[in-house]
Amino acid sequence: MTAKIIDGKQIAAQMREELKQKVAALKTKGVTPGLAVVLVGDDPASKSYVTAKEKACEEIGIFSSDNRLPASTSQTDLLALIEKLNKDPNIHGILVQLPLPKQINEDTVLLAIDPKKDVDGFHPINVGRMVVGQSAYLPCTPHGVIQLLLRSGVKLDGAEVVVVGRSNIVGKPVANMLIQKSPTGNATVTICHTRTKNLAEHVRRADIIIAAAGRPNTITVDMVKPGAVVIDVGVNRVDDATKKSGFRLVGDVDFEAVKEKASLITPVPGGVGPMTITMLLYNTVLSAEKTSPPIT
Ligand code: NAP
Repeated sequence: MTAKIIDGKQIAAQMREELKQKVAALKTKGVTPGLAVVLVGDDPASKSYVTAKEKACEEIGIFSSDNRLPASTSQTDLLALIEKLNKDPNIHGILVQLPLPKQINEDTVLLAIDPKKDVDGFHPINVGRMVVGQSAYLPCTPHGVIQLLLRSGVKLDGAEVVVVGRSNIVGKPVANMLIQKSPTGNATVTICHTRTKNLAEHVRRADIIIAAAGRPNTITVDMVKPGAVVIDVGVNRVDDATKKSGFRLVGDVDFEAVKEKASLITPVPGGVGPMTITMLLYNTVLSAEKTSPPIT
């Protein structure tokens, strides 16, 4: 069996088109969704993520406010900016690009963001609401994974899912969403990590594998049940002398071998990646909808 490729770019484009229409509808009510992007310092990777997020906003009609601060910014100054953005009625979402410089405590900063504007879904209030099954801003990468599965027609109800990775931004939340008693959950989930004994044995049982370890070739073909669905969240740089940059990006899955055994698989790049920014746009539009006046 050769797997069908789950085209993250195409699914993301379709979702962005849907969001564009929602933004247009909000504008007829006089509301332009606004996202404040905060970048402290000049880490090149963070700069390129922030630029990509702002460009994506522009493409669907979201207003983005660009807040770039020097690496020497104090925690007090950053908290003052967040307080100002919390109060700004034109801002519906606040995104603080991580990591932050050493003098700033990330937890303190994330706690300072108004949970109603926490479009990254990292505030403990939103995390808690997600865990107990209340409406919440869902973290973007895990929510993107769920959307890829749903929009590819994968049955989650009763499925055996193995998640490899237990980080707060991917592994734990995606597992949590999948166990919710809801049409977008109802799966039986196993979470694996570096202390898991016999990873292969767990993964081999999975109808759906979600790899979020951050290590190339964590999932090899011998670990995959024939016909399994494979979602590769990992993004890893490996040396490649044939590339101008000297490297290429690969996921956590041995893609070439596993695609011959799986039924559906995401590529890297072009799988989960395009969904992450899309879900940020989704949360920003959702926040604007919640605060917009009703149609009279
Ligand atoms: P992380 O914080 O480093 O967490 C990695 C997790 O994987 C940890 O829980 C670790 O276990 C586990 N792990 C590592 N090696 C393992 C192994 N050999 N066997 C079993 N478990 C293993 O990483 P993250 O932030 O969750 O990100 C994971 C990957 O997804 C990275 O490659 C990252 O770049 C990528 N990512 C992609 C996107 C996107 O938009 N496409 C977004 C976010 C992250 P321990 O807890 O025991 O250490």
